[in-house]
Amino acid sequence: MGKRKFKAESKRLLDLMINAIYSQREVFLRELISNASDAIDKIYYKALTDENLTFNQSDYFIKITADKDSRTLKIIDTGIGMTEEELEKNLGTIAKSGSLAFKSENEIKDGYDIIGQFGVGFYAAFMVADVVTVVSKALGSDQAYKWESKGSDGYTIEPVEKDTVGTEITLKLKENTEDESYDEYLEEYRLKQIIKKYSDFIRYPIKMDVTKS
Ligand code: ADP
Ligand code: MG
Repeated sequence: MGKRKFKAESKRLLDLMINAIYSQREVFLRELISNASDAIDKIYYKALTDENLTFNQSDYFIKITADKDSRTLKIIDTGIGMTEEELEKNLGTIAKSGSLAFKSENEIKDGYDIIGQFGVGFYAAFMVADVVTVVSKALGSDQAYKWESKGSDGYTIEPVEKDTVGTEITLKLKENTEDESYDEYLEEYRLKQIIKKYSDFIRYPIKMDVTKS
């Protein structure tokens, strides 16, 4: 499957994320949890008007899993999911990301305020990960798709197996360097701390499963 290119402004935001400073990084989890929650909201609202769809509270949750051996963090939701076209449209371009649409050229260059104060969206994942994989199955769809990117040079989309509707995002955490470590994002206490700080208001349960190495 061929590599697809990000739009110019998406690439710019992505580069900003890749080079984020330490104190900004933790908001990646806020962004991904907020997207997961939005995706569950979409199923919830659909169920209100669609009599063929029932919303069982217990079926809808967000799950965070951390695996120290593979240095991966997953954010899983049972929300509405994305079709192949939606993966392309929503993750291939930031044009849709409301928050950034309002920002001027200078603010984007400057960067700091954006990350701290506004929703920077999905690309925030690249603050902590060098490979981001999104496996998603949309409501009403038989086929699931995998979107994957190693950063600003592009992304791929291909069909994959997934039984249930929803989205699973896998972050392959960046390698630690001499002065920077990403290992904290594999620690349960640290993940809980970030969730408490930024995602306390989320209306769906956030489950956690941390595999010790
Ligand atoms: P925003 O949330 O402001 O729209 P994001 O960059 O956070 O911008 O996300 C872009 C879009 O990608 C979302 O609007 C949504 O359509 C889609 N998306 C992201 N994460 C998910 C998810 N977990 N489930 C379903 N759709 C998602
Ligand atoms: Mg968002």
